[in-house]
Amino acid sequence: MNRLKEIKELKRRADEFQLENREIIGKYTMAELCAIYNGIGPDSFPDWLRDVISSLHPSLAVVAFIHDIEWHESDGSKEKFAASNARFKTNGYRVAKAGYGWWNPLRYIVMNQARRFGNLCQIFGWSAWCSPCECTVCRKKRKSKGK
Ligand SMILES: [Zn+2]
Repeated sequence: MNRLKEIKELKRRADEFQLENREIIGKYTMAELCAIYNGIGPDSFPDWLRDVISSLHPSLAVVAFIHDIEWHESDGSKEKFAASNARFKTNGYRVAKAGYGWWNPLRYIVMNQARRFGNLCQIFGWSAWCSPCECTVCRKKRKSKGK
């Protein structure tokens, strides 16, 4: 699947699952979304946490998508940081329940991953949240300001 198609699919899924804060996606063009969503997780994450991210179940990609945009918009506040990480769990549960019946072990695997990842971000993500976003949109913006 190419990048543009992938982003379109993530947008569709965010609507389908009625995910929290999905409105944030509408603020950006497709090109910006491609730059922001670096499949998956901020560049300033430690390597081991990036490994955790890449081992997340594919159904959580849409949850990470919203999470990435929130981190792109980070204002360095503790409240938004905690809200974003809590939302990863809430949205992850929503995706798991919508995608898999109660009899399906995947429902619980995906829910567990969402909870654990939200917790890991809360414990280890603070410095990434506070450091400048490394997506190409932000880097270009900083360059044009001469920073
Ligand atoms: Zn950014």
